[in-house]
Order: sequence, then structure tokens, then C-alpha cells
Amino acid sequence: MNLSALVKNVLYIGGRPAIWVLFHLLVWRAPRTRVGPFDVIALSDCDDIESHVAKFAEAADLLQQCDPIRFRRIAHTIRLIVVYDYTRGFEAEYHHFARAMVMQTRVLKLCHAETVAAVLAHEATHGRLDDMGIWQHHGIRERVERICLRNEVWCLEKLPGAGQLLQTKKDSLARGDVM
Ligand SMILES: [Zn+2]
Repeated sequence: MNLSALVKNVLYIGGRPAIWVLFHLLVWRAPRTRVGPFDVIALSDCDDIESHVAKFAEAADLLQQCDPIRFRRIAHTIRLIVVYDYTRGFEAEYHHFARAMVMQTRVLKLCHAETVAAVLAHEATHGRLDDMGIWQHHGIRERVERICLRNEVWCLEKLPGAGQLLQTKKDSLARGDVM
């Protein structure tokens, strides 16, 4: 089993301690690139790490210039970004045990910097809620997602090029379409 397949299995396995240990072992082995406050790791077999790094660097610069307070909060919460062909149906996920955001390669390839910034704001909100002991379980999942989406909107309101994306997110929030 190659590294990529092993990580996929690890991310699917239940049991937080097992995931924590295996995830760290696998991530520890992978080459990483520093992008501002984040370490970026690409785990897909045929990844173009340079284009991933450039996109995160652009998003980090944008946040730092336009919304520095939020950027500091994001950097405090998310230490590691893992780009991976992750197929559980989410664009991105926050993994509290590694303070990591896992983002799907195919999603990242289609994203502009503003979208990446919004995803960082969303996942860092999950992280902050986790830090407060508000774990996302089934009963409050919708409320948690609404809070995260609202943070995306607040983030996008600060970014000059976010017009259409901002409107889409506002519309989702107004409809209650947060999942
Ligand atoms: Zn979410």
C-alpha cells in the first residue's frame, strides 16, 4: 500500500488515538513547504505542490492585508494544511488532533485565492469551536456549520475581489443552506 492509500484508510478509520498516531507518522514523513504560518503537505500521488503552495501563499497574503486579525486567529488554529484526494464528500475538513486542515486537491485546483481564504476561515472556526469543547456531533451540526458559514461571510466582506462568492455565501446563509 502506498503512502496515499494508507492515509486514505487512516482518515476513514474510527478511533481518535489510532488516527492521531498514524496521521502524525504519515505526515511526519511527507515533505512540507512553509507558507507563512502554515506547513503545506501534498499527499496525492501526482500533485503539483508548487501550484498548491502558490495558491495558499496568495490566500495568506490576501488575508494578512485585508483581514489581519482574522488571519492571526486562523494561523493560531490551523498549523498544517494537507492537500489530498479526499473523497468523503467534503471540500475540506478540520482535524483537531493534528491542528490540520485537509483540503481536496480537485477543489483546490478550481479555487481562487478568495475561496481558499474563505475555506481557511470556515475550517479555523471549526477549530476554535473544538478548542472551546464544542464538538460537532449530529445534534448541533447545523448550528456549527451556520457559525462557520457566517465567519466565511465576515471574511469575504473584507476581501475586495470576493463579490460573487460573497453573494453566494450570503444567499446560502439566508436560505439556511449551511450543510
Ligand atoms: Zn464546516
